[in-house]
Amino acid sequence: MTKTTTMTTHLPRILLALLAVAALVGAAVLGTQVVLAQTDGPATIGATYDDGELPDGATAFDSYAGITNLEPGLLAAVRAAATDAEASGIEVIINSGWRSSELQERLMEQAVAERGSLEEASRWVATPEGSSHVTGDAVDIGGYDAAAWFQTNGARYDLCQTFENEAWHFELRPGASVHGCPAMYRDARDDPRNTAA
Ligand SMILES: [Zn+2]
Repeated sequence: MTKTTTMTTHLPRILLALLAVAALVGAAVLGTQVVLAQTDGPATIGATYDDGELPDGATAFDSYAGITNLEPGLLAAVRAAATDAEASGIEVIINSGWRSSELQERLMEQAVAERGSLEEASRWVATPEGSSHVTGDAVDIGGYDAAAWFQTNGARYDLCQTFENEAWHFELRPGASVHGCPAMYRDARDDPRNTAA
């Protein structure tokens, strides 16, 4: 009887202890993976920084090809906006900027594999011929707060969200600071530059 009581009261504690250890190990493993992701180079298979891949946490002021190959007017506007956003405590990360045709092709192939069809993938990823990233005319802003800041304030710098389904994708729209941003495309398929649609 005593033994049974001991078992029933102590077993959960042992389990809890094991779970706690498992959680700590899990957190340690996750932590390691995060560090690896930051130091392990480009995330896209076969891509390099010369292709426009950016490391986690890249900013508009870094000297990776993905930043420096942006169209100069766009880059200047993004830098001005990022400077003002950061003055209000918003960290602005650039997840993607200029991309080589090869990188864009790989991204399209990955999207088709992940989303199951070219039709579905082309809602999110443009062809190399149609992508505003390949011409250096687009940036993907990282972080919810930064993207929200650009949605609210980007037009002051002629920066506009282009697609309704991509809250992070901004392009230069000269005149937006005076007239406001033009209507967005529903998604990449509606973009006349995108020949996959
Ligand atoms: Zn984009």
